[in-house]
This record gives sequence, structure tokens and C-alpha cells, in this order.
Amino acid sequence: MSQGLDALPSLLDCMHCGLCLQACPTYTETSSETDSPRGRLFLMRAVAEDRLPVADAMPALKRCVQCRACEPACPSKVPYGQVLHEHMEIHTKGSDTMSRWLGNSARLKFAGRALRFSRRSGLLALAAAMPNRRLRRAANMVPRKPKHYRPKAGTEFDAVGEQRGVVALHLGCVEAELFGQNIQDSIATLTAEGFRVVCPAQEACCGAAAAHDGDLQAGHHSGEKSLQQLQGYDAIVVPAAGCAAFLGSLDEAANVVDPMIFLARAGLRGELHAVERQVVYATPCHRQNVIGDAPEMRKALLQIPSLELLESEEAEMCCGAGGSAFLREPELTDAIGQRKAQLLHQTGASQVVSGNPGCAMQLETKLREREAPTSIVHPISLLRESLRV
Ligand code: SF4
Ligand code: SF4
Repeated sequence: MSQGLDALPSLLDCMHCGLCLQACPTYTETSSETDSPRGRLFLMRAVAEDRLPVADAMPALKRCVQCRACEPACPSKVPYGQVLHEHMEIHTKGSDTMSRWLGNSARLKFAGRALRFSRRSGLLALAAAMPNRRLRRAANMVPRKPKHYRPKAGTEFDAVGEQRGVVALHLGCVEAELFGQNIQDSIATLTAEGFRVVCPAQEACCGAAAAHDGDLQAGHHSGEKSLQQLQGYDAIVVPAAGCAAFLGSLDEAANVVDPMIFLARAGLRGELHAVERQVVYATPCHRQNVIGDAPEMRKALLQIPSLELLESEEAEMCCGAGGSAFLREPELTDAIGQRKAQLLHQTGASQVVSGNPGCAMQLETKLREREAPTSIVHPISLLRESLRV
């Protein structure tokens, strides 16, 4: 066995059965073997056995949206996500810039401010009308109503009424810069339900972006530091599914949990009011394939009176926003996103429920391109609406 296979022994577990192919969004889109999990594992093994230069495998690996839908589909339990991360760690050491931006607090705040200003001032609308496709696409990805909300380090929000516990809130990078409403809705709902919410000093980014870019060491460093900063409370509440999946994978004993699911497990004490609306839940891949609590989320949504949860076709298929492939592979990830938006639109739902900022940006863009009047909402925002807090 070569040194390469010593480092990645799970590559030997793939028996090439192909049962993962239909779960894979990139293969579904292109029908190309190199865009499939089986093909990518084959390429990584060829690199590990010195049969293929790493540069020849890299384009196919970088087209993977890292949704990990191939893992539950695999009878051999090949840990595809782990293998890919480790392969990238060995061979690339993180060559992309996104993680460097997200992991630097000053740069992140600057970028967030610039994007919000550009959206409010109409600059992004102007950029979205430009002939340059990349510029147009980037401008379109910024949410229509970006909101910043990042409480100062150490801020605490008191529980309303009798206190039931204390939780640490993870703010995240993109979440706090562009989806601050989700942070506010989490705090309002948790405190109304009797939980004191603490926002400890924390890393600018949980490290998931660095890990997705191939810099596993940097990702683990940020993630482990984040966990240390957030530990010592009843739970680490994380509104963004991608961050929750990454932090939870670093320490299974840490109680890393979405705010909606945390409250469902604790048991609601407030009265729920009707939300008469048809919605469709776009399950974030990391909740579906890594954390595994997507059924719990559906159950929690169904407890809201009069809320109708519609089902879309290919409900478990990625929207194309996973990892950082959407930056590098616009054509492929746009096609995946357009297919997803079409299926969600077809349900006739007036809102798409999504608890992950990357998915929310991708879906809002693709639904807007279809001129669908469908908005995106975080599950905790629906709960807040129902609790009227
Ligand atoms: S992680 Fe997703 S995109 Fe990548 S190979 Fe697996 S199913 Fe396909
Ligand atoms: S399902 Fe598993 S064993 Fe089968 S081809 Fe895919 S990765 Fe390999």
C-alpha cells in the first residue's frame, strides 16, 4: 500500500456499486462520471496510488458542492466528506480566499458593511444589470434585505419570567452580517421561552469555510477555538446549519443545536398562534446528511398551528450553494440552483423555510430569477411569529 493510501485508507472501501450516483447533484446535472462521488473517489485513489497527478484530479474535486448526500446512500459507509477534506488538506493546504475573508473579523465587517450599503444605495441593482456575468451573479447573490446584527462580545439577554437555563449563541460570519434578523429572532424566542442568552467573544468564522476550501488545519483551529469560547452553558445554539454541522462534528459531546430544535426538545411553554401559510422546507444538506436532525426540524415546524408544510420533488437534493463551489463553478451550481428553485416554486408555497445562509442566498436569487413571489424564512422566525414575542 502506498503512503497515500495509508493516509486515506477509506478510499479502499468504495466498491464502485454506483448507489450514490442518483443522490449526487453534480452527477444528476451533468451525468459525467467525474462529477459523481464514485468518480471523485476513483480520482483520489489514483492520486494516492501515484497513478494520476494531483492537478488532473483537482478540477473534478473542486466541482463537488460538499453536500454529502452520497454518504447516507452508500452501503459501504464511505466517509466521503472526511476523505475529500483530508485529500484537499494533503494536496492543497487551502488556496482560496473566501475562508481568509470570513475568518478575519475586520475584513468580514468591512465586506458586510460594503455589501449592505451597495444593496441599500442601489449599487448592487446597477451591478446586477451589467453585461459582466460574474459581476451580475455576485450582485444577485446578496439578499434583497440584508440585515446586520452582531451583539457586542459578552452581551447577555435575560430570560423572561422564570429562568429555565442559559445558552451560548453562535453568531457566525455571513449570518450576523447579512441575516441578522435570524439572530434577533433566536434571541427573542429563546428569552421569551425562559432561557438567558449569552453572546461570548467568539471567532469571526467557525472554520467551516476554511475546511471546505481544503485548509482542514485552519478550519479545525477556528472551530476548536469557537467551541472553547462557547462552552460552559446548557447548549451552544447555532442558527446556521452549516456552522452547526461543522462545530458539532468537532466535538460530539458539545450540545451544538439549532434554536428551533433546542426549544422543541426543551418543550415550549408559550402559547402558539396560527400561522396560516403554505411553506416548503428546503432542508440544508448539512442538517440532512451530517447532523441528521432534519426530521426533528420538520416535526418542530408542524407544531405551529395552521402552518402547512408542502413537499417538493427531490426534497433532499442540494441547492448548489454547498462549500465554495458556487464561487468557482458558476455554470454548474447555477444549474443545480435553478432546478431546485423550479421544484420549490412548483409546490405553490409562499415561503421557503431554510436555516442556512448559503442556501438562503442561493434560493432567494434563483427564485427571484424565476420572478417567483416566494420569500425565504428561517424556522426560528416562523416560531417567533407563532409565539408572538
Ligand atoms: S458531496 Fe454531494 S456533490 Fe460531492 S460527491 Fe457527494 S453527493 Fe456529489
Ligand atoms: S455508494 Fe459507496 S461504495 Fe458505492 S460507488 Fe458510491 S461511494 Fe462507492
